[in-house]
Amino acid sequence: MNPALRGRSVVDMIEIEHLTKRYGKKTAVDDLSFTVKPGAVTGFLGPNGAGKSTTMRAIVGLDAPTSGVARVGGKHYSQFRSPLTEVGALLEAKSVHAGRSAYKHLLALAHTHAIPKRRVSEVIDVVGLSDVAGKRVGGFSLGMGQRLGIAVALLGDPAVLILDEPVNGLDPDGVRWIRELLKGLAAEGRTVFLSSHLMSELAQTAEHLVVVGQGRLLADTTVEDFIDGRGAGRVRVSSPDAAALAECLRGPGVSITSPQSGVLEIQGTEAAAVGQAAAAHGIVLHELRTDRGSLEDAFMEITADSVEYHQSKEGVSA
Ligand code: ADP
Repeated sequence: MNPALRGRSVVDMIEIEHLTKRYGKKTAVDDLSFTVKPGAVTGFLGPNGAGKSTTMRAIVGLDAPTSGVARVGGKHYSQFRSPLTEVGALLEAKSVHAGRSAYKHLLALAHTHAIPKRRVSEVIDVVGLSDVAGKRVGGFSLGMGQRLGIAVALLGDPAVLILDEPVNGLDPDGVRWIRELLKGLAAEGRTVFLSSHLMSELAQTAEHLVVVGQGRLLADTTVEDFIDGRGAGRVRVSSPDAAALAECLRGPGVSITSPQSGVLEIQGTEAAAVGQAAAAHGIVLHELRTDRGSLEDAFMEITADSVEYHQSKEGVSA
């Protein structure tokens, strides 16, 4: 753990209590309660329009809740005297002066928070913008803009990071980079909360998941339990004597299908039991593996009733 953060863990929790936000007749967030703890990356997962951005905006005081509260370390965001050094945020709506360079933009923010100049160069380096730091932000690509947004979030070395869809616009290298960056920040004891509508992305980055649909909490669990509890594991086995093996495995609660000749897919049993049954009956196996349900399957299953916008293409937002 980063020595600077030691002992701060309890006060760096994000707490959402009965948060509700209505825009006219539209309920964007509906009595949502959960906490985000330090020391792990927590993914905030939900289809477009599920209320993720609204919740994150409420955490950093950009949206006033209709009812309920959002606190960080027991305080409202407005109570922080130097917010950048306590909560770093990357939210979708950015207000960067297009004519300014990345360096000048960060420097101006650093000045208002008594953050030393060397920290500006440090974060520019961390986000990989050193070569373009002097260029006008107006000419930045979406990915470069995201990197600058992440630099802003990191500038005050905050113990809490809130990032709304941070991988948007990043190329595959950028996606890998941010994944490792966020895991590293969590390993230092920070609270890292990031949203995504990409279940595959969170599966590789987050340890914990808060899943929402139509503003309501659908799950608050570890990624592992989320996958195990949903799209159930399946044992896949191939054998030159598949028919005989199927006979040995039949039993209550076991379902066996054969997607192709010589291959069985079995639900309701473990790979070890399949291996043992084969050995006991002298049946040769060519392959034996467990296919865990993917996070994608689990996500589809849980949000099936709550998808507000059906997307024709990945990345198209509501
Ligand atoms: P997500 O981040 O999960 O995609 P949002 O929080 O952006 O979801 O939006 C949740 C719902 O609230 C959507 O139906 C959206 O259209 C609506 N909404 C968000 N912001 C506003 C606003 N400023 N005015 C009216 N409706 C809004």
